[in-house]
Amino acid sequence: MKYYYDLHIHTALSLCADDDMTPCNITGLSLLSNLDIIAVTDHNSAGNAESVIKASRAKNGPLVVPGMEVTTLEEIHVLMLFDSLDGAITATDEIKTLGGVKIKNNPEKYGRQLYMDENDNITGEEGFVLSAAVNLSIDDAAFFAKRFGGVCIPAHIDAPSYSVIGVLGYLSDELGFSTVELTKRADEKLVLDLKNRGYNIIQDSDSHFLGALNERDADNSIELSELSLKALIKKLSVNNLSNLTPHPVYVFFHYSHPTLLQRIRKIST
Ligand SMILES: [Zn+2]
Ligand SMILES: [Zn+2]
Repeated sequence: MKYYYDLHIHTALSLCADDDMTPCNITGLSLLSNLDIIAVTDHNSAGNAESVIKASRAKNGPLVVPGMEVTTLEEIHVLMLFDSLDGAITATDEIKTLGGVKIKNNPEKYGRQLYMDENDNITGEEGFVLSAAVNLSIDDAAFFAKRFGGVCIPAHIDAPSYSVIGVLGYLSDELGFSTVELTKRADEKLVLDLKNRGYNIIQDSDSHFLGALNERDADNSIELSELSLKALIKKLSVNNLSNLTPHPVYVFFHYSHPTLLQRIRKIST
C-alpha cells in the first residue's frame, strides 16, 4: 500500500527550529495534512522522539519514526531512522559518548534547545549546541545506524552545504547507503543517476517551522507491505539492485553483525 510521509522534521530541540515545533503542533498538523508517517530528526539527538510518539498516539495521528540528523566528522548531515524508540535512545547515548565539537549554547543569541513532554510542557533545555560535528565518519555512519536497528540516509544530498555531495563532491556507493534524501529542487539528471544505481529516493520537508511540513502528494509517498517501523526501515535499508540474501560465505567473511534479513527474522519471532 502507498503511504505518505515526511521523514525529516525538527522539533524545538533543534536550534534552528521555532519554539512552536512542539509534539502536539507537529502531530496535529501532520494529521490535518493526512500524512501517514513522520520522523522526528533533531540534530544528534532523539531526545524529543518519545514525546512526539506519545502525542501522536493520543490523537490517533501518524506513525512516528524515532530518529535524528547526525552531523558527521566531515560536517555532512545524515538522517538516522530507527525501528524502535529504544534503538534511537541508545544511539543518542552512543553519539554523546563519541564526543566531538563542543560549543556552549548562547540562548539569547542563537535560541533555545527545548526538551518537551507529550503535552508540550518544557522539561529541560540543552546547554551545548547539538548540531556540532560528532566523532563519527561518513564511512562508519551506515554501520553505526544498523547497530541500533536503524537506517542511515544521507540528507539533502543536492544541497550545497552539509551534504555528502557538497562536501565530498560525489556520492560513493562504497559508503553503503541504500536510500538518499533529495531536496525538492533536485536536478533530474541526478535523480535518474541515483535511480539507475538502485538508490531509494526520499523527499522531505526538513521542517524548522510548522508551515513547511510536507503535504500529501506523490513526491513523498512510499509503497510498504504494512504501516510499521519495521516495514519502513526494511524498505529503506535495501538498495534496489542488491540482493537481500547475501551468499552465506560472503556473510561469514564480511559481516560482523547480523544481516538485515536475520535481524528482521529475529524481531518477527
Ligand atoms: Zn541538514
Ligand atoms: Zn534538518
